[in-house]
Amino acid sequence: ARIKGNYKYELGELAATLNYMAEEIVRSNQIKDDFISSISHELRTPLTGIKGWSETLTSGGFDPEETKIGMQIISKETERLIGLVEEMLDFSKLQQNEMKLVIGKVNLKELLQETMLNVWAKAEQKQIQLKLDDRAERPVIVVGDGNRLKQVFLNLVDNAVKFSNENSWIHLVITLKDSSTALVQVIDSGIGISEEHLGKVSDRFFQVNHNRGGTGLGLAISKQIVELHKGEMQIHSELGAGTTVSVTLPLLEMVGEAGSGAETAE
Ligand code: ADP
Repeated sequence: ARIKGNYKYELGELAATLNYMAEEIVRSNQIKDDFISSISHELRTPLTGIKGWSETLTSGGFDPEETKIGMQIISKETERLIGLVEEMLDFSKLQQNEMKLVIGKVNLKELLQETMLNVWAKAEQKQIQLKLDDRAERPVIVVGDGNRLKQVFLNLVDNAVKFSNENSWIHLVITLKDSSTALVQVIDSGIGISEEHLGKVSDRFFQVNHNRGGTGLGLAISKQIVELHKGEMQIHSELGAGTTVSVTLPLLEMVGEAGSGAETAE
């Protein structure tokens, strides 16, 4: 009877586990369905623009200025499509552990300055002030893939602009977390993320609001790229108050440079 009882207990546990797994499958299928629907929409929007303008221009009768505007829209929308497809390819590379880093020395201040230039126009449109605050007392150099790290910060600052209201600000702060770790914070005063959603935003495909565009892959990709660099990415946020994304990266160990306390002896 005791053995029977044990079986009963184990069967009960097995049933509960299977139930849980079934629920997880349903949940992850739902997430994938949502992703397919949002990515289809994301791909369709630029395609519609490209189709519309190429048909219009083919029909002829436009002056050079009008033709130029049409061509510029086609080119911008094509760029957007390439960006979306690249994001999907990056995600799939990361999933399969196939993203290769091209390692070099990366000056974080220079990288963030470049990043800011890339989002300047978008921020300007919403009258958002972008500010870089370098609080480290020496050049902050990390070892990593400059293009991939730029992709991370571009994504974070782009999100900050996207989820901020007009006339607000975004601060990028560089500090030394400790003698061997750099810390970059992207701080916005935007719409924020509720506690309920905060744990999920770095999950693949997750978006709080599907109407704001995007694929829901950006944070998942960024987090994994940071982790490939042996760093960490953390998000703190308060609904209605703003979001801070903190990225830590290991510093390049300086040889024989006095005074910073961060160098190795040999
Ligand atoms: P995407 O921006 O393509 O939707 P991300 O993975 O970059 O995908 O972000 C996932 C979700 O996290 C966003 O859709 C948004 O809901 C939320 N989010 C990301 N960054 C911020 C931010 N700075 N402020 C508020 N919400 C954010």
